[in-house]
Amino acid sequence: MKVLKFGGTSVAHAGNIAKVESIIKKASEKNKIMVVISALHGVTDQLIHAAESAADQNKHYIETLKELEERHLELVKELLPIFAQSSLLSFVKKHFNDIEDLCYGTFVLGEFTPKIKDRITSYGEFLSSRIIHAKLQSEGLDVSWMNSAERIVTDSNFTYAKVNSELTEKNIREYFMENHNRISIAPGFIAGDENGNLTTLGRGGSDYTAAIIAAAIDAEELEIWTDVSGMMTADPRLVSRAKPIPEISYAEAMELSHFGAKVLYPPTIQPVLAKNIDLRIKNTFDPEAYGTLISGHPKTSDKEDPQFAVGISNMDHIALLTLEGSGMIGVPGFSAKLFQCLNQEEISVILITQSSSEHSITVAINEKDVSSAKKAISSSFQDDLKLKRVEPVKIETGLCIIALVGDNMKSRSGVSAKMFGCLGNNGINIRAIAQGSSEKNISIVISEKDIRKAVNVLHEEIFESEVKQVHLYICGTGNVGTKLIRQIYDQSEYLKENMLISLRIAGLCNSRKMLFSSKGISEAEFLTLNENGIEFSEEKFADEMISGNLRNSVFVDVTASPDVPHIYEKLLKHSVNIVACNKIAASSDFANYKNFKNVARNHNCKFFFETNVGAGLPIIGTINDLIRSGDKITSIQAVLSGTLNFVFNHYDGSRSFSEVVAQAQREGYTEPDPRLDLAGTDVARKILILAREAGYPIEFGAVEIEDFLPEECMKGSVEDFYKALFKYEDHFRKLLESARYRGKILKYVAEFKDGKAKIGLQHVAPESDLFHLYGKDNIVIFKTLRYSEQPLVVKGAGAGAEVTASGIFADIVRSV
Ligand code: ADP
Ligand code: ASP
Ligand code: MG
Repeated sequence: MKVLKFGGTSVAHAGNIAKVESIIKKASEKNKIMVVISALHGVTDQLIHAAESAADQNKHYIETLKELEERHLELVKELLPIFAQSSLLSFVKKHFNDIEDLCYGTFVLGEFTPKIKDRITSYGEFLSSRIIHAKLQSEGLDVSWMNSAERIVTDSNFTYAKVNSELTEKNIREYFMENHNRISIAPGFIAGDENGNLTTLGRGGSDYTAAIIAAAIDAEELEIWTDVSGMMTADPRLVSRAKPIPEISYAEAMELSHFGAKVLYPPTIQPVLAKNIDLRIKNTFDPEAYGTLISGHPKTSDKEDPQFAVGISNMDHIALLTLEGSGMIGVPGFSAKLFQCLNQEEISVILITQSSSEHSITVAINEKDVSSAKKAISSSFQDDLKLKRVEPVKIETGLCIIALVGDNMKSRSGVSAKMFGCLGNNGINIRAIAQGSSEKNISIVISEKDIRKAVNVLHEEIFESEVKQVHLYICGTGNVGTKLIRQIYDQSEYLKENMLISLRIAGLCNSRKMLFSSKGISEAEFLTLNENGIEFSEEKFADEMISGNLRNSVFVDVTASPDVPHIYEKLLKHSVNIVACNKIAASSDFANYKNFKNVARNHNCKFFFETNVGAGLPIIGTINDLIRSGDKITSIQAVLSGTLNFVFNHYDGSRSFSEVVAQAQREGYTEPDPRLDLAGTDVARKILILAREAGYPIEFGAVEIEDFLPEECMKGSVEDFYKALFKYEDHFRKLLESARYRGKILKYVAEFKDGKAKIGLQHVAPESDLFHLYGKDNIVIFKTLRYSEQPLVVKGAGAGAEVTASGIFADIVRSV
């Protein structure tokens, strides 16, 4: 014999009940079956709501009951042929009269006791099971109805009654001795005490009813039919990528459900475990799906390398309660006293951690129990408080628990490291940790606001080693920004397949507008930024990133704005990684630069700015690698300006200097005001950044800049500048000739040596590494302790939107 239980959604309305019916018919062809039915979806909540309103003197309860009555009457009319309807319609009406009488009683008394609550809520399953029974009967099936309230015997702990297994099993067996129908139907959730009062088994308790019946009759299998295809690796409402777990052990299922996996009511496991009955979770809306098989010996545990964790659960509305004091050290019975007093108040302790010094003990309880716990502890520890052996109990609320569950965790080292590592990288602060003594679960307590992010991060780390989801916030849609965005769209498939990284642009802005989407901004949406975006401000952009709280977030600064770096620190403190091609932050005051680096380190995030120097060339990365491996940089010699290189490569005397500069500007190499390049400011920033990365704490003011522009060129507008350049052609010609005279060429060189940085025009001989540089090439020559004779040279295209964008891209991929 098999037991099948159908949950609230499965019997929500006639359409769903048709699906249930076909499952029942099919199952009953092979076996005799017992069917346990929940109340129609939402009915239990509404009955409670009606009674609570009545107790609050709110007459709306009458409307709520009318709606419920109507829903049941409609269902009867939809399900049954007309000739079978009338008796059931009056049956439903009669019972709604009873419910109304009970609610009227609570209205008059202004009191809603647990005992009345059980009487009122019991009507949900009572009616649903009777209606479905009548439906099957009308189809000519051989079906009987068992009244669970008479067969399942409990104590009188209303709303959460404890089952008397012995009496219950006897009663249920007797029922089957007297009834031999192919199909039996029973209401879930409801039971009765020995005085004939109605009781219930706790919210979600229909699962438990089914398990109790299965155990009583030694069923071949228990099937829980619900609205998902099994017990999933995480709550599917939080993690869209959660997958059904094909097989798990009783113990694992128990841990998952105890820590919040709503799909199974926790007490359900015990009766089937005791009888070693297989429990299957199946989907009413996809009956062919495999579902989950919960058993004593899941196949997965036979595998050579079984998955160490099977799922993640979460529980919200948690409070932490901490009792501490010097009087606790070494005093036996202290914790026992705490648990005893919580137990007396029937407060269930979900998780316990005790510091090794025995100085404090922390327990997690449900938020609703906080005030009674506080009262109970204060009275129980009255004397200890007076003598200051303990401090007043500390309470923290607004928390949740996340549990990672798996039988094989005990045999794996590094599980917690993996768990804490990925949470830490995402700035999730862990308030308490407990490892179940069975080592089947590691539970952590965190702030409720982080729950979605934490479960997703953890799920990705443990169950989706396949692909890591990265959320990008890109600031700047100029030349480089646009190229970067295009590269991201073009490369996304490749990255997913080859690097197991999925990039999603979650936010985008330019200096006027910004756009957000946690699901990812599409290429088409990107094109409408200016029309559809909302007004941009750095602060608003930062706030959106922070409140979005998405995992693996990266802020990409593709601007040259001095304002954008103001939000860096705040972002780093909220675990948002930063990739900047904007040089302002790294070349600002040394204290500021250092602060960014420290904040990033302290918050486990990355602050990368490889493209600050030499566009996509691996220059900063090379310095970092050298230093990390114990080398020391002794000198740097470099040509770092694409603009200046272009200008001096093309200035051969055939055209005026001003014409060459104008060409560089036309071809897009220079800043809008070319003086920023020609005066060396940009190069000075670059050598400053390299020196700092090499470990030298220098300031911008300490970079010695040898000017080659006559003073007059620096005055006035850009137009004035060109005029002055033309006027001083002789000056430039002399610079050129003096180099040529010595068989050399002109290069704008940056040097760092003996702790000093210097930039300026130099004569470069053909045998120098700096000589053969063409177009917009950059070169950096490092001398280090290891590369003391032959230097380490990095050379290649050091400017241009495409290479800069790919350098930023590389930083993004490295940062997560
Ligand atoms: P029923 O009414 O059939 O008893 P429930 O609502 O009690 O159904 O339980 C099923 C729901 O449990 C699913 O719709 C899902 O949203 C939720 N749920 C939470 N955690 C999990 C999990 N780990 N696996 C599957 N479902 C889960
Ligand atoms: N109807 C009850 C509830 O909503 C029991 C159940 O559905 O399992 O809690
Ligand atoms: Mg349920």
